[in-house]
Amino acid sequence: MRIGIVGLGLIGGSLGLDLGALGHHVVGVSQRLTTCEQAIARGAVAQASPDPQLLANVDVVFLCTPLGVMEAVAQQLCPYLRPQTILTDVGSVKAPIVATLSRLWPNFVGGHPMSGTADQGIGAALSGLFRGNAYVLTPTPLTPVAAVDQVAELARALGSRVYHCTPEVHDRAVAWISHLPVMVSSSLIAACAQESDSDVLAMAQKLASSGFRDTSRVGGGNPELGLMMAKYNRDALLSALTQYRDRLDRVIATLEQQDWTSLSAHLQATHQQRQTFEFESPKRT
Ligand code: NAP
Repeated sequence: MRIGIVGLGLIGGSLGLDLGALGHHVVGVSQRLTTCEQAIARGAVAQASPDPQLLANVDVVFLCTPLGVMEAVAQQLCPYLRPQTILTDVGSVKAPIVATLSRLWPNFVGGHPMSGTADQGIGAALSGLFRGNAYVLTPTPLTPVAAVDQVAELARALGSRVYHCTPEVHDRAVAWISHLPVMVSSSLIAACAQESDSDVLAMAQKLASSGFRDTSRVGGGNPELGLMMAKYNRDALLSALTQYRDRLDRVIATLEQQDWTSLSAHLQATHQQRQTFEFESPKRT
């Protein structure tokens, strides 16, 4: 199959590495020529250029740019695509992107691979990034079924578990498990960094181990990605943050009141509830 990747960064480059290894002919479009050259040198794409004309003969295009430029980039590239070409995206928020891109290109399938690292750019691209992880597709009643099936087949070939849901359910679900954690984790780092006693702060920085590494990881990631999640998924994220603040207030109250019975019940409940989440396979950062 001939596959085009637009936006040769962490996700686009990683898709290129794996899809190329699966035997597909992969071409890339990115805005900077140096990125295109790096993507070819890394073996993520066979050819690359800032010129969308390179996509004239591809069967499937993965749009992998930041959320904020997806509409403008799609507008530039659609005139070069054949009508039967499937356009799919990898954006972390679905409802606004699906609404916009489906209008621009009827053969569009919203998608979101639930994979990433704290790094960005083509230099951060990794083989096997999607293996063992969820890949969500968010078709609407108007999305062509054959296009959904085609993207699902490619996602499964990457080793991902494929799920389908509406764009709205996706956005509320990822607000809980992806976007809220970014805000909580970044607030944790900021609160810790503002410790006023420099000896305490210096010791905390020396003592930080796996617990702080895990809980601070997503808050210390790509700042642009965090900002875009907040802007594009504002309502669902605000709702999750507000409910989180309520939970935090309840935990604070148990400590203030030395209500160890309630705190113990809370921690026992979360110990059980955590086991209901299907985590990705443990292989990275
Ligand atoms: P990234 O590493 O910063 O890559 C984005 C790439 O897009 C950049 O390397 C940039 O390449 C290119 N680009 C920017 N503007 C462009 C334009 N106007 N035309 C063509 N290319 C352009 O970001 P990422 O982490 O891969 O994220 C990309 C998308 O994946 C986002 O929509 C994000 O929501 C989604 N996503 C991210 C993660 C994650 O954890 N990182 C996970 C799942 C989904 P140049 O060097 O050419 O400017």
